Amino acid sequence: MNYITDVDLKNFSTLRIGGRAKKVFFPKDEKEVLEVLKKAKDEDRKIIPLGKGSNIIFKDGILEDVFVSTKLLKKLEITKKGDEFLIYAEAGVSFKQIVELVKKLNLEGFENLSGIPASVGGAITMNAGAFGSEIFDIVEEVRFIDENIQIKTLKKEEISYSYRKTQFQQKGFVLAAKLRLKKSDKDVKALIKEHLLRRNKAQPLDLPTTGSTYKNPPNNYAGKLLELAGFKGKKIGDVGFSSRHANFLVNYGNGSFKDLKNLLENAEDCVYRQFGIKLEREVVIVE
Ligand SMILES: Cc1cc2nc3c(=O)[nH]c(=O)nc-3n(C[C@H](O)[C@H](O)[C@H](O)COP(=O)(O)OP(=O)(O)OC[C@H]3O[C@@H](n4cnc5c(N)ncnc54)[C@H](O)[C@@H]3O)c2cc1C
Repeated sequence: MNYITDVDLKNFSTLRIGGRAKKVFFPKDEKEVLEVLKKAKDEDRKIIPLGKGSNIIFKDGILEDVFVSTKLLKKLEITKKGDEFLIYAEAGVSFKQIVELVKKLNLEGFENLSGIPASVGGAITMNAGAFGSEIFDIVEEVRFIDENIQIKTLKKEEISYSYRKTQFQQKGFVLAAKLRLKKSDKDVKALIKEHLLRRNKAQPLDLPTTGSTYKNPPNNYAGKLLELAGFKGKKIGDVGFSSRHANFLVNYGNGSFKDLKNLLENAEDCVYRQFGIKLEREVVIVE
């Protein structure tokens, strides 16, 4: 199986903060994923799946966990059923590839998800979403490896998921998802173009970021609370909350994990003291 050693984990997080992994594995199929996960379980070691890195931050130092990248799991198959299309995408397929496909086939249902810098595995695990839509709106089934290292396929109705939360977080390894989309009579290419313009205007995409740091509390916005608590544009060292979007963490250059932790704890404390609301982290911190 492909693997690399002494790996700079900054390359696996879009915020570009973090230490070094002893090893990162790159399985090319289900059999190889099973193999690496079985060995990790036998050795009682923690497994960290790696997608596009757009929602994960690593601590400093040497990390001993078993890092498994989905980069080589790229199978993408389309089946037509009447005016519906079933898209079977392995975990390492990017949202960009799916966007190209839906534009080519003029399929609707993915417009609001376009622009999220996700892999299918990461998006399923996080139940990624935007503008009132989420990936689970279009999921038919998910294929994954469970905690007992068994391959399973579950229909959407059998899966536990909610806002940015699923049963796959910290447990299991998503191998693939089947998505259901249908032919549109609208111009999907134009809709996506318009959506991306709107998205990009609101986000600080000129700096390394991990997108939304906190989940929106019920009937509220994490960004608004952070702004009211004075955290919009606030920096510790080279890590800060963006001055364009208070809920986006950004790295101004040499951001350190220590400064990041300080900033997050500070923000969580202040918001709690001022509004009595406990912000829940959306971003995954591996420490
Ligand atoms: C500029 C920017 C904009 C963003 N906008 C949005 C948005 O609009 N909506 C939104 O929901 N999110 C958004 N995000 C956050 C992020 O893109 C999503 O959470 C995305 O789903 C993460 O996918 P990933 O492949 O990068 O996962 P990663 O960041 O690599 O991983 C995220 C978590 O999932 C786990 N994981 C990854 N792959 C698997 C797998 N195959 N099986 C099991 N666990 C796995 C990882 O271990 C980690 O815990 C944004 C991020 C950025 C940087």
